[in-house]
Amino acid sequence: MTDTITLSRPGSMPQQAFMSRLLAERQVPDQPVRFATAHDAIDWLKSLPFAAGTPQATRPSRGSLAECGLYRHEGRLYVVREFTPQGENRKVRYARELVPTEGAQADRANGHGDAVKVKGIKAPGMQWNLAPDEAVSLEEVAALGIQFGECLLCGQAIETKESVVDRGGIGPVCITKQSRLLALRAA
Ligand SMILES: [Zn+2]
Repeated sequence: MTDTITLSRPGSMPQQAFMSRLLAERQVPDQPVRFATAHDAIDWLKSLPFAAGTPQATRPSRGSLAECGLYRHEGRLYVVREFTPQGENRKVRYARELVPTEGAQADRANGHGDAVKVKGIKAPGMQWNLAPDEAVSLEEVAALGIQFGECLLCGQAIETKESVVDRGGIGPVCITKQSRLLALRAA
């Protein structure tokens, strides 16, 4: 993809795009390097210092892989989740933008009988563009969970009114996850 980096296996489109961005903003040595996968190349690029004059040089938290959790970025809600690809022993994180559904799409009632829900839209690359300072507070995660009738972190439905109230709109596993993310905010 570039003169600098050669890959044994080509990366996905989002990986290629992210590599291009990293190549543009990092201080990349002027000699060819070879990697087996785009994943390895990205790890290497991310270890390099930011080039002088890039906006990221003053925002070190951006451009690294975001922790799992719920974020608000430029007024939009994003969730970062992870999964283990079949046959691999590493986890892959991805981002979804969460958008409330309207009209005929909002066909499932939540615990209060309100026809409200939310859908996740693919947000390729956003898992590299979210910072802990954008993490949504626990109170708001819970309020949104009650509003939408599901835990927004894991997408698990909260079907009954009792469980909405009992669980406060977010389950214990996801509270731990979001708390860990919130702890990373700048002091
Ligand atoms: Zn959850």
